[in-house]
Amino acid sequence: MSTYTAPVSDYLFLLEHVLDYEGELASLPAHREAGLELVRAVLEEGARLAQEALAPLNRSGDEEGCRWEDGRVRTPRGFGQAYSLYREGGWPGLVADPAFGGQGLPRVVGLILREIVSGANTAFGTYLGLSQSAYSAISAHGGEALRKRFLPHLVDGGWMGTMCLTEPHCGSDLGLIRTRAEPAPDGAYRVTGTKIFVTAGEHDLSDNIVHLVLARLPDAPAGTKGLSLFAVPKLLPGEDGEWTLPNMLECTGIEHKMGIKASATASLAFNGARGWLVGRENQGLRAMFTMMNSSRLGVSVQSVGLAEAALQAASAYARERRQGRDAGSAEAPVPIVAHADVRRNLLTARAFVEGARALWLWAGIRLDQQYAHPDAEHRARCEGYLALLTPVFKSYFSDRSFEATNAAMQVFGGHGYIRETGVEQYVRDGRIIPLYEGTNGIQALDLVSRKITGDGGAVVQAFFALVQRESERMECLRPGFSRALNEALGSLRAATDHVIESARTDPHANGAAGHDYLQLFGLVAMGFAWAKMTCAAHGLRDSGLAGMAQSKLDVADFFFSRILPEAGYRHRIVCAGSESIMAPHSF
Ligand SMILES: Cc1cc2nc3c(=O)[nH]c(=O)nc-3n(C[C@H](O)[C@H](O)[C@H](O)COP(=O)(O)OP(=O)(O)OC[C@H]3O[C@@H](n4cnc5c(N)ncnc54)[C@H](O)[C@@H]3O)c2cc1C
Repeated sequence: MSTYTAPVSDYLFLLEHVLDYEGELASLPAHREAGLELVRAVLEEGARLAQEALAPLNRSGDEEGCRWEDGRVRTPRGFGQAYSLYREGGWPGLVADPAFGGQGLPRVVGLILREIVSGANTAFGTYLGLSQSAYSAISAHGGEALRKRFLPHLVDGGWMGTMCLTEPHCGSDLGLIRTRAEPAPDGAYRVTGTKIFVTAGEHDLSDNIVHLVLARLPDAPAGTKGLSLFAVPKLLPGEDGEWTLPNMLECTGIEHKMGIKASATASLAFNGARGWLVGRENQGLRAMFTMMNSSRLGVSVQSVGLAEAALQAASAYARERRQGRDAGSAEAPVPIVAHADVRRNLLTARAFVEGARALWLWAGIRLDQQYAHPDAEHRARCEGYLALLTPVFKSYFSDRSFEATNAAMQVFGGHGYIRETGVEQYVRDGRIIPLYEGTNGIQALDLVSRKITGDGGAVVQAFFALVQRESERMECLRPGFSRALNEALGSLRAATDHVIESARTDPHANGAAGHDYLQLFGLVAMGFAWAKMTCAAHGLRDSGLAGMAQSKLDVADFFFSRILPEAGYRHRIVCAGSESIMAPHSF
């Protein structure tokens, strides 16, 4: 059975030595009190919660799953107590606005906690993530009254949130949403319709649940332009002001799934349920995008946490399991970690986990700067980077996380396929991430159709310039790494020109190129992160952190020589055109 240890020393190494957390973030007036020492204390406490309270429930939660009975959902044994501990520790309000009872810590710290929780218990983490996203949407788009009504409860953890988009006939194409909302005389609305696949849509962890529901007002325009967002609580206030009165909505069932079995995926029937408009009429998608972008970043980080946990399990197994002979030595049997192919699997997972972590932490600091930096131009630049990279993170991380959990399973041999070792759960739990929060195919379309051309291409070019600068910084230290990054960046630049050009004449060009273009983008972005780590580690080779620095340089070598070259192959596929796909095949 696997155990999980939160990689606190890696977060701190990255924040302090690679990403200049103190200079970039803790120096800003809004975060002056959130120096590295405070961050360290918070992470150590979060790690303790994850290791001692959440990780022990990962396997039992998977085996027991959630139970639906007469509209109520019971989470697996121990989840209620674990959530109480989470709540008592003040974790729901970690990054929330102090005006609503939060602690106001940087968002990047909240994201680290998300990675740690996902590593310990991914299914448990799904309940928490959507509450954070609901907080973001109401806080960004809700009026004063709405914020006062909902935010203190979300911040204190007594209430949790959900995101209700999907309907039986409507998934990726939100323009098909049929759920209706009618204005009521008291200024509220009555919401009617069916939503499915609602994560944490019903459970016994919190006193109340706030559903954020996309619905259509009477006479609203067709398609996505006619969607509005509503906050619809499970319980309404009674005459005494206490939120105990059942709203007109019902959980009609939960799904039986391949993984994250302890996460309740609910069907909800809204039968004229009372709700309040969030943002403006017919501007619901805009408000929901705040929620989705926050969730997409959250599931990107979830991908890394899950892969970290699988890697830890595989590394431990590879050190213990003895099979075969070490090439060039008489000793036998040797621990399987001696074999090149096993090392390749471990390093594939490790290069992903450590590279992706450095990359999202870099972006997480930009996320905070987007809100707290005094320079408006810098804030706008950060917002641009986040918008560009969110679909890349969501898809590249979830695809590579699945690859990493598979590689971890491979290290276990046949034992990995057996439930007892626990590693197959990581593969099953991770398979949802490329599917939800907008499928990876839809993310790729977003990247090629909108993000790279947005702002006249200025953001994408600015990002390429950042990568170029990092490569130049690395050139005198590790010329081979720098050459590999330049080559990959050249492929990405050429592929970018190609997709923009070919979309002008071929209506299928973006759809056919999207997946490979996104993989190419992800590879180069990872190269950026590994370049940053290489430069930092180079300077620390003779310090007290020499061991950590050398380990980063060794994994960087693997990344630049054995993973990044895939960029050239992705570039060739991007340029292969759509004909071979769109030919009249019979399916
Ligand atoms: C466990 C779980 C939890 C979930 N949690 C939530 C939640 O909390 N809230 C919520 O609202 N939803 C949730 N979902 C729903 C999830 O977001 C959707 O399943 C997802 O968006 C895809 O929609 P769909 O399943 O209807 O697939 P479809 O939209 O039918 O897509 C099927 C396939 O066609 C592709 N496709 C569709 N349209 C296009 C296009 N225009 N171009 C190219 N390819 C296309 C897709 O990429 C996919 O491969 C959850 C789903 C699951 C399984």
